[in-house]
Amino acid sequence: MVRRFEDILERLEDYNPGADFDLLRRAYIFSAREHRNQVRRSGEPYLVHPLEVAWILAELKLDTASIIAGLLHDVVEDTLTTLETVEGYFGADVAHIVAGVTKISRLKYSTQEQAQGENLRKMILAMVDDLRVILVKLADRLHNMRTLEHLAPEKQIRIARETFEIYAPIANRLGMGRFKAALEDLSFQYLEPESHLALSQTLKKRRKISGEFIEEMQAKLEEVLGEQGIEARISGRIKSVYSIYRKMKAQQIDVDQVYDYVAFRVLTGSVKDCYAALGTVHSVWRPVPGRIKDYIAMPKPNMYQSLHTSVMTGRGQPFEVQIRTDEMHNIAEEGIAAHWQYKEGRPLQTGDAEKVAWLRRILDWQQDLKDPRDFLELVKVDLYPEEVYTFTPKGKVLSFPRGATPLDFAYAIHTEVGHHCTGAKVNGKIVPLKYVLQNGDIVEILTQAGKVPSRDWLSLTRTSRARSKIRSWLNATERTKSVSLGRELAEKELRKYKLSPALLQNEDKTAAILKKLGLAEMDDFFAAVGYGKITAHSFVTALVPTAELEEIKPDGRVARVFKRALGLGHKAVKVRGFDDDIMIALGRCCNPVRGEAIIGYITRGKGVTVHSTQCPNVGRLMYDPERRIEVEWDTRIDGTAVFDVKLVLTVQDRQGLLAKIVSTIADLKANIKNVEATTAEASNAHIRVIMTVKDEVHMNRVISGISRIQGVLDVIRARR
Ligand code: MN
Repeated sequence: MVRRFEDILERLEDYNPGADFDLLRRAYIFSAREHRNQVRRSGEPYLVHPLEVAWILAELKLDTASIIAGLLHDVVEDTLTTLETVEGYFGADVAHIVAGVTKISRLKYSTQEQAQGENLRKMILAMVDDLRVILVKLADRLHNMRTLEHLAPEKQIRIARETFEIYAPIANRLGMGRFKAALEDLSFQYLEPESHLALSQTLKKRRKISGEFIEEMQAKLEEVLGEQGIEARISGRIKSVYSIYRKMKAQQIDVDQVYDYVAFRVLTGSVKDCYAALGTVHSVWRPVPGRIKDYIAMPKPNMYQSLHTSVMTGRGQPFEVQIRTDEMHNIAEEGIAAHWQYKEGRPLQTGDAEKVAWLRRILDWQQDLKDPRDFLELVKVDLYPEEVYTFTPKGKVLSFPRGATPLDFAYAIHTEVGHHCTGAKVNGKIVPLKYVLQNGDIVEILTQAGKVPSRDWLSLTRTSRARSKIRSWLNATERTKSVSLGRELAEKELRKYKLSPALLQNEDKTAAILKKLGLAEMDDFFAAVGYGKITAHSFVTALVPTAELEEIKPDGRVARVFKRALGLGHKAVKVRGFDDDIMIALGRCCNPVRGEAIIGYITRGKGVTVHSTQCPNVGRLMYDPERRIEVEWDTRIDGTAVFDVKLVLTVQDRQGLLAKIVSTIADLKANIKNVEATTAEASNAHIRVIMTVKDEVHMNRVISGISRIQGVLDVIRARR
């Protein structure tokens, strides 16, 4: 039967007499004119298709804009008409729906890629900002599936698989049970033609028996419900071919063992009557244990509500009974579309606020659900689009956070593709690296052998994968540079002391030093020197005892530096009232730091030794008040001098902690001169650190920095 435009008008008049029939008629004429020279594979004029789609939408009682969009859904894709023209003639609402359907139609679905169905479904839902787009698309797909026989076999399979994996689940998610069952059955017919044929033939053979059975049971149901005064409309049917097939597969039985392929629907006027009907059914027939389901009290995530039970006849023939109210039935069949139907006196609201409020309400109903994640996910992709879905040129779907760029895409494919990325082609056009990926983009990454990552790529990427790959590449490169710099500095330092650079290769010597510093290999040492975390000099002092070093006597300039490092001739302190050069040394018993309260003690022949007032030796030394002298920190050379500080840490004995401590100290710009770790109790260890700091404030910052490291139990400043 050919659908006529008048059928649609009549139907629309039924449920929406105030519709804009004039606009509808113009849409029909427009569609007829634009598609006039096209024919379908079946040989029919192309116009048959948009008419059927519009009819399906009218059956769903949708608003005028949806039906007009149904008539026009293919004009942008298949004719020379532009969206602007559609908008000019039929308004922004219609144009918006047509644009959405066109976008979805352009998505390419690849059957070669595994597990793409879920992503593609999400992508479609993410692309849709008006649910009418989905409804038009589903109507389009339903008609295409009904006429699939005219296409070439491989096209049939591709479209059937796409329908089965993408569109039937979407219909299910939206609660559109009738669409879902029809799409599944039609797909099944093409995807498994043999099983489908065998099963439908068997069901056909049983049709006579089934028919009689349905009649008999229907009469019986009407009778017993009537006796109880329950008003109900009852219908019996053979379940869909695919749902029987699925049951056979799930339970691993063949068709002769499928008994409850007959289902009855009992539609009542109220929830109370639903439960009353269930009780009545159970009082007449024996229920099959474990098959009673109360989706009224616990709706499915897609809003489905109904009571289900399976019962046995006296002859041992099981059958299923579904009981629900008329309203629940409408929602079970048409799902979300039921909420979009035109209602007298209350035209459809398409505003976002309304949509959000509606979904909220659904969410509130769903709070008791065991697993409402599915539904939440739908809400998320629909209303809070945080993700964007894109394609590789081969049709694989990749999802990213919003704001992702071609670099994120490149790193998602392969690290090497990321490292060598020079740009990208999106939908065939070259785009800059800062381009923001859009839903449905087909992205081709351009690479070049010599290309390497740069630091500003970090600000061009959104995914943690891309960022961590870029960062580790940068670190590795910087490390290589630091290692060679560190090696150079260490060799230079050795030469200063007339020591052989070959010592750096002497494993007997280096092993002990590495252990002291908590490093694994000499490259780590060089890298640390190169980064400036430790001094090249630390290698020399670790190698040769301090006393011997003095014997080696490097050249004059170094000697001064060296002396100062040992605490001789310290210039940070002056004797109060004297600006002259007085030989001053910091007490090596207490190692005072700039900022602390200090006191001087005159040592014959050695000048003035400066102690902290906290120094344990002070009391003993100060017995001779004659030798006490007031000293103060010399502000003239603030910031240039450094002070040794010794810390003793009590730590949990855990891996990587020492490295963490060393790097924390380095990050706080203190120089480590020596680190020693010893295990104390079973799980605790002590670490002794000698470092140089600028002043007391600096020292306290380092101490509190170390204290904050997880696993560090205690930090004490040791005076000696
Ligand atoms: Mn179409």
